[in-house]
Amino acid sequence: MSAAVESHQPRVGLEETRVNGHQVNGNGHPETNGDAQRWEDLFLPPPLRLDDKIRAQKIEARLSKLRLCGATLRRVAQVFEEELEAGLRQLPSSLQMENTYVPEMPDGTEEGVFLALDLGGTNFRVMFIELENGNLVRQDVKQYHIHEALRLGTGEDLFNFLADCVQDFVISLGMENAAFSLGFTFSFPMKQHSISSGELITWTKSFNCSGLEGVDVAALLQRCLRERGLDITVRVLLNDTTGTLVAGAHIDPEVGIGVILGTGSNGCYMEKVSRVQHWEVAHERVRDVAVDVEWGAFGDNGCLHFIRTEIDEEVDARSLLQRSFTFEKYISGKYLGELVTVVLATLARDGLFPATPKPGFLQTSHVSQMEAENCEGEVKQTLEVLRGACGAAPLGVSDALVAQYVAHVISNRAAQLVSVCIATLLRRMERPRVGVAVDGSLFKHHPRMQEHMRTYISLLAPGRPFFLMGAEDGSGKGSALTAAIAARLAKGAP
Ligand code: ADP
Ligand code: MG
Repeated sequence: MSAAVESHQPRVGLEETRVNGHQVNGNGHPETNGDAQRWEDLFLPPPLRLDDKIRAQKIEARLSKLRLCGATLRRVAQVFEEELEAGLRQLPSSLQMENTYVPEMPDGTEEGVFLALDLGGTNFRVMFIELENGNLVRQDVKQYHIHEALRLGTGEDLFNFLADCVQDFVISLGMENAAFSLGFTFSFPMKQHSISSGELITWTKSFNCSGLEGVDVAALLQRCLRERGLDITVRVLLNDTTGTLVAGAHIDPEVGIGVILGTGSNGCYMEKVSRVQHWEVAHERVRDVAVDVEWGAFGDNGCLHFIRTEIDEEVDARSLLQRSFTFEKYISGKYLGELVTVVLATLARDGLFPATPKPGFLQTSHVSQMEAENCEGEVKQTLEVLRGACGAAPLGVSDALVAQYVAHVISNRAAQLVSVCIATLLRRMERPRVGVAVDGSLFKHHPRMQEHMRTYISLLAPGRPFFLMGAEDGSGKGSALTAAIAARLAKGAP
């Protein structure tokens, strides 16, 4: 077991009210035509510089649809807002806009010991936290491996295994007889009925257990825990995005948006209760509530067709769940390596790149590596990666520069699109200043992601002060903290 202390992440960026010294008015529209051109240009990646200028021009032309200008991004923002409004009103929309029923953030009075389960990320984890006056004074985590047979078996077997892990964990703490509130982070699409109940809509990622669709997963976990004689109450059911929001708000109360930028991507934010139509419990005393946007599926109804390229068509055709998770396929860690692969293969077909990379070789971590070298003006590692991906084909410095350019264009588009969503939320929230807590390896490790996001959010939501905050491990800690909020609210309830 590894004991971990809370990591108070520094703020990784502050908003800029002026962008590169360029003034934009309150609507994000530049003041004059000349400025309009400059504003548009601020979104474009730098040109590809090769000795062979004709080749560079042809490659840039081939990639032109992947370079989104300010006007296109404004249109994406407009569509996002329309879909968001429709989702909140329960009209047809590609955004689920799920009410999480989390009505408050930590207020610094949370007390006691709590457990959290985190299912749906790369690892399954069980976590213990102890709070005194809202401060985290102890934290223990244990990871468990879930074998494929369990991930693809029956739901009953999976949940019995989860309860066995909880039992093993509390025994290892010597606390098997203690009473706990538990937060269950279940990062799969759900229909929530209350803060502590919700049913699975469909499995995703590497899970496909039988007999669980439409079942209340919190109630099932509760039953399995009771059968083991454990005095543990499942108080909260949430996903990793909501967990990240709550964990971020625990570090800084200005945090009002939670974002995942890892294998997948999603966001949630504090919305005014009057704008949320779907309620299954009394909520007279609630002012704001966390709404889970589920933006990975943004565009699944075709509303983003105007940015779709043949590259995206091909990545989609190669994917496990075709014609779904449209937006995630533009921006998340699962796909950026694949996007670069498909672009290079297209260039190879046109004689602009010497070889076709093997499918599945280039990962998003390689994209980060190419971007890091591009920042430093190096090509050595890029060439090594390309040799792994392309086999014996002869590759030179100019080919490495082309690959770095492709990595840059793909990364830039991802940063722009996720920034559109965050900027739209900032504009809706109308708070003096909003912290955005972000969890996920793409955000954490990509050398340009944070800087790009700061720039593009500032451009798309001018006059809306914000800061980005790395909220590592928000999914586990956040659900334990939410269990603490729920326990506090239950105590204060009339
Ligand atoms: P999860 O989303 O499953 O909880 P992570 O947040 O760790 O887990 O995200 C994993 C994703 O991050 C993978 O898709 C992987 O491609 C991507 N990733 C891992 N390392 C890097 C890196 N150095 N740069 C960019 N992306 C990375
Ligand atoms: Mg995660």
